[in-house]
Amino acid sequence: MTNPLVEIDGDEMTRVLWPIIKEKLIVPFVDLKTDYYDLGIENRDATDDQVTTDAANAIKKWGVGVKNATITPNGARVKEYNLKKQWKSPNGTIRALLDGTVFRKPILVKNIEPSIKSWKKPIIVGRHAYGDLYKSVETYACHPGKAELVFTETNGKEKRITIHDFEGAGVLQAMHNTEESIQSFAHSCFRFALDQQLDVWFATKDTISKTYDQRFKIVFQRIFDKHYQQDFEKKNIHYYYTLIDDMVAKLVKSEGGFLWACKNYDGDVMSDLVASAFGSLAMMTSVLVSPNGYFEYEAAHGTVQQHYYKHLRGEKTSTNPTALIFAWTGALRKRGELDFNANLQLFADKLDRVLIETVEEGFMTGDLALLANPPAQRILSSVEFIEELSKRLQR
Ligand code: NAD
Repeated sequence: MTNPLVEIDGDEMTRVLWPIIKEKLIVPFVDLKTDYYDLGIENRDATDDQVTTDAANAIKKWGVGVKNATITPNGARVKEYNLKKQWKSPNGTIRALLDGTVFRKPILVKNIEPSIKSWKKPIIVGRHAYGDLYKSVETYACHPGKAELVFTETNGKEKRITIHDFEGAGVLQAMHNTEESIQSFAHSCFRFALDQQLDVWFATKDTISKTYDQRFKIVFQRIFDKHYQQDFEKKNIHYYYTLIDDMVAKLVKSEGGFLWACKNYDGDVMSDLVASAFGSLAMMTSVLVSPNGYFEYEAAHGTVQQHYYKHLRGEKTSTNPTALIFAWTGALRKRGELDFNANLQLFADKLDRVLIETVEEGFMTGDLALLANPPAQRILSSVEFIEELSKRLQR
């Protein structure tokens, strides 16, 4: 390696697995260079969460990061770890600093069939992570009255629209998005599709939402025409827009193998649907792609808390390290690509292939054994599974 990866460590069971993955699967084969940040909850607390900002800035410097799963503290965690306060979600902090879109991609193996029989290739969900319902304001109108939408420009000019004349009680909600955020969402999706050589499908409800959703449609089309059409043609990939209802109808009949760009709420709901229909959260990778050309790879799952408590009791766990390993290979492959290091890219491809072959030959962790058809040959603990991969990788 020439340039380092930004390595962001995390918590609980995934923190236990992280050094084992490095020691058995990466360090023996790669002259690994990393810029390390400890985002374990104790260190975030000790540094007043400064370490999270430092890690995001390091990704801005080096371009590529790999992140372990981290605890987002709630009340119970504050007590459990005796924290100074309920620190914010590290993913939220990093996303805010890098400004990006999160893409979740399932890892497919032959012996775990998706619930939807026609799906043969991964469906990647790109979720817009700003605005709409998630930054909305709402109120309960308990008496009859007039609800209005008022927009006051900085120069004082006012636009006023009647929402509804309530004759009795009712509910109200107002939401927004920004042109800049929609643009950066579109750029991230088209760049990701070019990188992965995938068609892009995008859907809204613009027939009903003639201004709000239509804006998304217009921005996507304009950015595609201006910046991406030619490159898409060269790679023989396509951009396809449709209505959200048509989209879901086509989705369940499709073969997969495309990027589904989702508005915030659609992405929230549909990424769980896609993950569950493909089999398991432990087989779902996630990458944050910033419009400024930064990449952060991680597993889509959390710290697997219950397995950690088992581990602390001295019991063996069968936590599936697949998505963590794919986070590493995703980051190494991207580092290789940016640094023109073909060997590094080749290594990442090999490790992915070894892992998939191992599972397809029936060697897997307990979570996959519940789904596998034909049934698993051997159900392995996390460490046994990593050791099996290491043995095969050596070979
Ligand atoms: P989780 O994803 O850790 O686990 C949910 C369930 O999914 C587990 O009970 C387990 O049955 C299964 N599972 C997940 N990953 C697995 C794996 N690799 N192998 C086997 N089974 C697996 O989510 P949670 O329990 O809701 O959250 C635990 C902690 O993780 C929380 O503190 C939360 O804040 C954090 N979290 C972090 C991230 C992140 O950093 N990206 C994402 C989600 C949750």
